[in-house]
Amino acid sequence: MSSNTLTILGSTGSIGCSTLAVVEQNPQYEIHSLSAHQNVDLLFKQCLKFKPRYAVVSDLKAAELMAKLLSESELETELLTGEESLLSVAADQGSSIVMAAIVGAAGLESTLAAVKAGKKVLLANKEPLVMTGNLLMEAVKTSGATLLPIDSEHNAIFQCLPHVEEGLSKSQTRFVDKLVLTASGGPFLTTDLDKFADITPEQACKHPKWSMGQKISVDSATMMNKGLEFIEACHLFGLAADRVEVVIHPQSIIHSMVHYRDGSVLAQMAAPDMRVPIANGLAWPERIESGANSLELVNEEPLQFYKADLQRFPCLQAGMEAAEQGGTAPAVLNAANEVAVAAFLAGDISFASIPLIIRAVGAKIPCEATPSLAIIRGVDAQARALANELILKDFC
Ligand code: NAD
Ligand code: MG
Repeated sequence: MSSNTLTILGSTGSIGCSTLAVVEQNPQYEIHSLSAHQNVDLLFKQCLKFKPRYAVVSDLKAAELMAKLLSESELETELLTGEESLLSVAADQGSSIVMAAIVGAAGLESTLAAVKAGKKVLLANKEPLVMTGNLLMEAVKTSGATLLPIDSEHNAIFQCLPHVEEGLSKSQTRFVDKLVLTASGGPFLTTDLDKFADITPEQACKHPKWSMGQKISVDSATMMNKGLEFIEACHLFGLAADRVEVVIHPQSIIHSMVHYRDGSVLAQMAAPDMRVPIANGLAWPERIESGANSLELVNEEPLQFYKADLQRFPCLQAGMEAAEQGGTAPAVLNAANEVAVAAFLAGDISFASIPLIIRAVGAKIPCEATPSLAIIRGVDAQARALANELILKDFC
């Protein structure tokens, strides 16, 4: 197997499409498998262009249409269907790199499968790490997988740490004082708080700097995204919550920073374009073209930095608290958030209700300090049921 064979879990999403854009510029990468949940029209187009060995459609109804499209074509791509197929392509010996780009907890099992199979795993899908934390990091060590962060902040930090052959390693943070995650602050950084109840899904999904999938766009608007990233940073870099900070930086040019013991601060800068961290992860430890515009600092507006306002963004506070609490707290937070965001996007609850639901669910589920994977799956289901119940009862 070549070291440049790539499987993309969630190839029809924002990260999936950006990954394929980087691959298009770098024909040394060969696509092994692509997956989509429902968007088979786009998946089929991607198959025509990249000719993967396997195409996975996890939604069984959508898979019927994909079967028809493939049978009417001359493609040799084999169709695999259902959630289980995601696990088999994630671990398939025919590919060496797995881009985890499914959104939410739906990517948990396939990300774990890729890690356990010892792949080079490009981790965009942050929710599985938020949910399972130490367990996933332990699985990386046991299998010898190489875990590379694609979330732009974590990729920035990774680039500012000393280079070690095996990717992430505890030794890299030996001289680190603290990590600073930058946050754009999203579309509602200066909106009057009394207007929060009237925010529509369309307004919430219009991010000032990044173009992303719907769920992460809403997470950016509530700043839950930064809360999840806070938890993600603690696990990836093996640091306690009191050594991670969040700073608002509306220009999204500095993607995060590492403060060293001697007073040096290293920052990574780039245009806000996910092709940059994706190309970094794909080629690491080498560098390839990403297709992103290079940064012209003289043309940029002045770079600003502010303290994050936790009153305005209670979801960020909830994320930071869950990081401190550890155990099952982040899994509960993540599940309640996924349900609340889906309900907001469906028009069932207001934007201002999202943090209320998350808080209410968190208060009702006791935190287990050292959970097994089975316990994490259990609290995930429990938190989802509780969040749905609260929404049905019109709790907010
Ligand atoms: P998206 O909604 O655009 O795409 C999600 C992909 O996952 C699609 O291919 C979809 O078919 C697939 N999918 C959805 N539900 C599924 C299910 N139940 N089972 C299997 N597949 C399913 O999302 P995105 O914005 O590309 O984000 C993907 C992940 O990357 C998220 O975890 C997000 O937090 C993270 N991330 C995204 C960005 C970004 O710029 N978009 C930046 C950093 C991190
Ligand atoms: Mg990010």
